[in-house]
Amino acid sequence: MGTGKIKSRKLAKKTPLTRSQMMQAVHSKNTKPEVIVRRGLFKQGFRYRLHRRDLPGTPDIFVLKYGVVVFINGCFWHQHGCKLTSRPKSNSEFWDNKFTNNVVRDIKTNWQLSLEGYRVATIWECSLLNEESAKRTLERLTAFIQSDEESIEI
Ligand SMILES: [Zn+2]
Repeated sequence: MGTGKIKSRKLAKKTPLTRSQMMQAVHSKNTKPEVIVRRGLFKQGFRYRLHRRDLPGTPDIFVLKYGVVVFINGCFWHQHGCKLTSRPKSNSEFWDNKFTNNVVRDIKTNWQLSLEGYRVATIWECSLLNEESAKRTLERLTAFIQSDEESIEI
């Protein structure tokens, strides 16, 4: 798999990532923002499953009892449009296609999940950047899970 290799390259400062390394980063699991949300929910007493492949979009978190799926989106990969959403200057056509595909896939996934009766929470990475905003994000997520609203984006 070579993941150890990627880790050590990430640590080396200013080593540009190759395209395949960046692509692997898209699919990385257990990223830090995800861990923040997971721990927060667990502390609140929610129990969940991770990365359920049998659900559309393989949601990061699935809170069974409430029928809620949670996606923790990287702002760069999912093109949030916030200040974390930069665009690589080289290979711009490749990246444009890649980003468009990601965004379209997100829309389709959310639509499919709603059709199947799941409630969808989308958490953007930038809402977890510091402790204070992470706390607010978790409060809003907790309130959403216990509500009967269909979706939320934080
Ligand atoms: Zn963002």
